[in-house]
Amino acid sequence: MSERLFGCIEAGGTKFVAGIVAAPDDIRETARFDTKSPDETIGATIAWLQEAVDRHGALTAIGIASFGPLELDRRATNWGHITRTTKPGWSNCDFAGRVVRAFSLPVGFDTDVNGAALAESRWGAGRGQNMCVYITIGTGIGGGAIVDGKPLHGLTHPEMGHIRPPRHPADLDFAGICPFHGDCLEGLASGPAIKARWGTSLSELAPDHAAHDIIAWYLAQMVVTLQSIMEPGRVILGGGVMGTPGLIGRVRERTEFLGKGYFRGRAQDIIVPPALGDKAGLLGGLALALDV
Ligand code: ZN
Repeated sequence: MSERLFGCIEAGGTKFVAGIVAAPDDIRETARFDTKSPDETIGATIAWLQEAVDRHGALTAIGIASFGPLELDRRATNWGHITRTTKPGWSNCDFAGRVVRAFSLPVGFDTDVNGAALAESRWGAGRGQNMCVYITIGTGIGGGAIVDGKPLHGLTHPEMGHIRPPRHPADLDFAGICPFHGDCLEGLASGPAIKARWGTSLSELAPDHAAHDIIAWYLAQMVVTLQSIMEPGRVILGGGVMGTPGLIGRVRERTEFLGKGYFRGRAQDIIVPPALGDKAGLLGGLALALDV
């Protein structure tokens, strides 16, 4: 019986990772490309995958987990496009269509966070839960939700980073940095928002600096909002900001405090780090390729 191989693409704002993957624990080869223009980066990714097929054998399908926002409606003429992004040169860029035309294979396409959420729900920290949410807190804040094994979509993918949390009482003067909303969650608690206020990353600030409680407060507001809407069994918090020592504990404490014991999910049980580490993005591509 011939084995099934999948082409997986993790497309981020600073780098792309492409891989030939047979199973979550069987990644055959990967390559990285800096994110430059769409022609350069998507072109290089496609060319590498085509050469990799010569080394490894034919692919069954390809999965793309991409930074967004994206058009996910397969009936739309611009399905597979990155839509309105602040990243220069990438707005209205046809991404998945180029991959379809290059390979004539089924192509799964969703956000990087929906991909990571799907991978974590299937093989990682969300296993066994009928609903889990994955949030990345880094250069931006994005979230994906998996419900009964499928990524949650409305008109398009969720935009959880743009909820509007109440302002922390000691953080009322900062306008926020989201170009669309100012003081939405991403505008207040992303890595660049932390740097705009305090000049450095959260992990560089002393453990008793007020920033730690302020950021934990905003992230806890997000978790309580998610609990109010859908009581997820796991809220998986990833991304560079979550690498700050002690932050996940502060978020758990704040979430428990804000929830007042009302929700079924206990903060210490539901708020967890990712289990797949830096493979979550690529395995998101695998999950999307398997499901297409
Ligand atoms: Zn916003």
